[in-house]
Amino acid sequence: MTDPFDFQAQTARFAVIGNPVAHSRSPQIHQMFAQQFGIALEYGRIQVDAGGFEQAVSHFTARGGAGLNVTLPFKLEARQLCGRPGNTVSARAQNAGAVNTLRFEGGAVFGDNTDGAGLVRDIEHNLGMQIAGKRVLLLGAGGAARGVLQPLSQCAPKNITVANRTAQKARALAKDFGGGIRGCGLGEVKGEVFDLVIHGSSAGLQGEAPDIDANCLRGAFAYDMLYAPAGETTAFIQWALASGAARAGDGLGMLVEQAAESFYLWHRRRPDTAPVLGALRSES
Ligand code: NDP
Repeated sequence: MTDPFDFQAQTARFAVIGNPVAHSRSPQIHQMFAQQFGIALEYGRIQVDAGGFEQAVSHFTARGGAGLNVTLPFKLEARQLCGRPGNTVSARAQNAGAVNTLRFEGGAVFGDNTDGAGLVRDIEHNLGMQIAGKRVLLLGAGGAARGVLQPLSQCAPKNITVANRTAQKARALAKDFGGGIRGCGLGEVKGEVFDLVIHGSSAGLQGEAPDIDANCLRGAFAYDMLYAPAGETTAFIQWALASGAARAGDGLGMLVEQAAESFYLWHRRRPDTAPVLGALRSES
């Protein structure tokens, strides 16, 4: 319960919860959004060990917390929390099977997933590539890939192929979504041509790129959900451009756009993302 003598309580409290979170740029992004509207808010980082997610969420809400961004490895646990009696979840989070945004209201929890909307907005609005009619290759079949499949298919691409190191997981994912999405192993796309290749595997966290035929990248737009520090390029983008990709973009725009969707969910205001993305890109 909120302490009535805590005069700081008028400042709404938000945080990103995950492990690790020390590197997270979400606090900076949300403060920049808030400044656009003159909103005062606290936005912190909560690092939690395995098994401690729900307890940390309870502690945060008991101290008057209004909302959380959820990052690795707790997006599935957040989805489970939203399934409890009295709590609710958006259709897009239900389809994704994962929650990256929590809103707390009167003891109830509402969960959403803004990752897919953030990806689509970055590709179409910031980077200027319309997905309609395009041949799309999505690399990876984990939580990130699952989260973006429905928003991608709603853009009416010509087709979507999900290719993953473990082929069976890509096939199962494609089957779950239906609607002409094909799932296969990384080796099975050899010799095929794509307009848009989206890297959504965690190979990049080890500085690697998935092992696919370099010809799949020739002339394509290569998008990496991962992003590199300012002035650096991700392993996937380096490899894609060396393989003949026509253009490339990294996931910093997706991060800012998914944050804007979360901000809207909490404050009902839509921030201007361009200056925030520009500020992050120019940081050294
Ligand atoms: P998961 O752990 O759920 O899934 C990992 C996926 O990567 C699996 O498909 C796995 O394949 C594949 N993989 C792991 N290592 C390799 C490798 N060496 N070669 C090929 N494939 C590999 O992770 P997430 O889906 O949650 O995250 C994936 C990436 O997306 C991360 O880098 C994350 O940072 C990024 N991301 C970025 C966001 C943004 O806002 N920019 C938002 C969300 C995620 P297999 O099934 O065979 O194990």
